[in-house]
Amino acid sequence: MHERFFIPRRSFAPGYLRLFESGELKQRVKLGIAELECCCLCPRDCDVNRLNNQIGECKTGRDAVVSSHFAHFGEEDCLRGSRGSGTIFFAWCNLRCVFCQNYDISWLGEGSPTPPGELAEMMLHLQRLGCHNINFVTPEHVVPQVLEALLPAIEHGLGLPLVYNTGSYDSLESIKLMNGIIDIYMPDFKLWNAETARRYLKTPNYPEAARRTIKEMHRQVGPLVFDERGLALRGVLIRHLVMPGLAEETRQILRWIAEELGPDTYVNLMDQYSPAGKVGSSNYPEINRRITSKEYRAAVETACAVGLWRLDHCAPQRYPAASH
Ligand code: SF4
Repeated sequence: MHERFFIPRRSFAPGYLRLFESGELKQRVKLGIAELECCCLCPRDCDVNRLNNQIGECKTGRDAVVSSHFAHFGEEDCLRGSRGSGTIFFAWCNLRCVFCQNYDISWLGEGSPTPPGELAEMMLHLQRLGCHNINFVTPEHVVPQVLEALLPAIEHGLGLPLVYNTGSYDSLESIKLMNGIIDIYMPDFKLWNAETARRYLKTPNYPEAARRTIKEMHRQVGPLVFDERGLALRGVLIRHLVMPGLAEETRQILRWIAEELGPDTYVNLMDQYSPAGKVGSSNYPEINRRITSKEYRAAVETACAVGLWRLDHCAPQRYPAASH
């Protein structure tokens, strides 16, 4: 492992412990909860009072809705390790991806309202299971609720790195609220062009929001670093799902990552796209197929051509790039 991207486990402490001790975390909770009163927590800017359980586009009121929590062994090796990534899956979503791979959770809201005490207990349960981190999946619309639950979780001994696993449709304000609290940002950068985002995510301002927030994430935590066991401790891990026929989107995203964040950025090019959600032979037929190995290989080659070299090891192993 390159020494620039290594920190010994014994010298690592999650950022939130310092903010907890200084009292700053309590202030962030207050600020976050106040935001719920006229919610503009994400770029949808719904302006509804979620403290009174009014709902906006994300259909989530005062409490977060949790679909499941479990030790996840399907994440990247640097997150799952040998004991799993402690995943908490939030229901609903502020995006409307027509190809959503978790349609029942994100579109239909499968899950239960979960007050902060219960959310804290889920984190502690995952820590007791031996998970290497707490991995909040789709947290964009529940940032204040996550902050609120952290207080009792820390009081009862939480000490794992936090992973913010997002579709990247976050507001800059939300990400700033998380400054110093999240150790690992894992944004999925889906699409580059406004028109493509309008068609497939129903969100034309997605690319602009994603670029803005990913830059802020990178400013906060920098490139991904690992401990001696290869477990991620801090930094940004960008995911990008390679889509059928959308090589140009991939190229623009990878070029932007290399130019704006730097070639040391850790990237996982995901190959598991399969038609789901609203995609079928009559709706969105052009993406009603899996990607070919040629398409995936081209994506890896593009990453290498723009100078990215820290690709999640799964990618080049399965589809060796022609050069680099
Ligand atoms: S978090 Fe939900 S209610 Fe708030 S602005 Fe976003 S979509 Fe609307």
